[in-house]
Amino acid sequence: MTAHIIDGKAIAAGLRARVADEVARVKHAHGLTPGLAVVLVGNDPASEVYVRSKHRETQAAGMASFEHRLAADVSQDELMALIARLNRDAGVHGILVQLPLPKGLNTEAVINAIDPAKDVDGLHPQNAGRLAGGFAALSPCTPLGCIILTKSVHASLEGLNAIVIGRSNLVGRPLLQLLLNENATVTIAHSRSRELPKLCARADLVYAAVGKAEMVRGDWIKPGAVVIDVGINRQASGKLLGDVEFAAAAERASAITPVPGGVGPMTIAMLLANTATAAAARARRGS
Ligand code: NDP
Repeated sequence: MTAHIIDGKAIAAGLRARVADEVARVKHAHGLTPGLAVVLVGNDPASEVYVRSKHRETQAAGMASFEHRLAADVSQDELMALIARLNRDAGVHGILVQLPLPKGLNTEAVINAIDPAKDVDGLHPQNAGRLAGGFAALSPCTPLGCIILTKSVHASLEGLNAIVIGRSNLVGRPLLQLLLNENATVTIAHSRSRELPKLCARADLVYAAVGKAEMVRGDWIKPGAVVIDVGINRQASGKLLGDVEFAAAAERASAITPVPGGVGPMTIAMLLANTATAAAARARRGS
C-alpha cells in the first residue's frame, strides 16, 4: 500500500478540542451554554447508537445535550409540536432530528419546521439555498467533514478536478456546493451517469457517497488522487466496508480515508462545531 491513510479519528479529535475551546469562550463571553437537542423517533438500532454517541460527545465538549425520544407511532402533530417547542427554547441552539423517520411521518414537513438558525444538520431549504448561492449557511456535517479531511492533504483545492458520486441532499449535493466554494472543478455522478470509471480517471479528488460496498474499483482511481470514502456498508459478518475498494485504491491514491475511522468520526465532530457556531451567532444577535 502506498497511500497515506487519512486519520479521521485524530482529525475529529482535534476538531472536538477546538469546539470545546469555542464553547468555553462563548460561555465566558456571553454566559451562554450551547445546547443541542436530538430528536429520535422509534428505536432503529443504528440510530440509537448514533444518538448515544452524539449525547456523549456533546457533553464532553462542554455543551448541554437534550434527548427527546418519541415512540415510532407518534403523530405528525405531536412531532411538529415538539419542534415548535425546541424552536422557542432559548437553551437550545441546535436541533437535529435523527433520520430516517419511521414510515407515515412527513420528513420534509419536519425539516421545514426547524428554525433555520438552529438547523445544525443544514437540511432546511433556507440553508441549502444559501449554500447553493454561495452565502454563509449552516451546512450538512458529513460533507463539511469531507472538506476538512481533504484539506488535511491539500491546503488548497483550487483548480482540482473533483468527482462526487452520489447526489443525496445529505451528502452529495451539499458536497458539490462546498467544493465549488473551494474553487474545485466538480463533476457530480449518480445512478444514471455513464462511464463512471472514465469520469473517475480524471479526478484529483474522489468522493464516494453511494451506499454500495466497494463499488468504486481501485483501478478507476487516477494515480496520486485523494479518495474520501463516505460509504458505510455493514456486511453480514458485521464488518464495515466503504464504497471504495480500499486495498486496490490505496495502491494508486496518494491519500485515502479508511472505513471505519475516516469520514464517520468527522460527522459528529462537525455537528458539535455547527452547534457552537449557531450558539455564537445567537449570542452575537443577543436574542
Ligand atoms: P442515498 O441512498 O440517499 O444516495 C445514494 C446516491 O448514490 C444516490 O444519489 C444514487 O443515485 C447514487 N447511486 C446509487 N447507485 C449508484 C451507482 N451504481 N453509480 C453511481 N451512483 C449511484 O445515500 P446517502 O447519500 O445518504 O449515503 C451514502 C452512503 O454514505 C451510505 O453508505 C451511508 O451509510 C453513508 N453515510 C455515511 C455518513 C458518515 O457519517 N460517514 C453520513 C451519511 C451517509 P440516484 O440519485 O440516481 O438514485
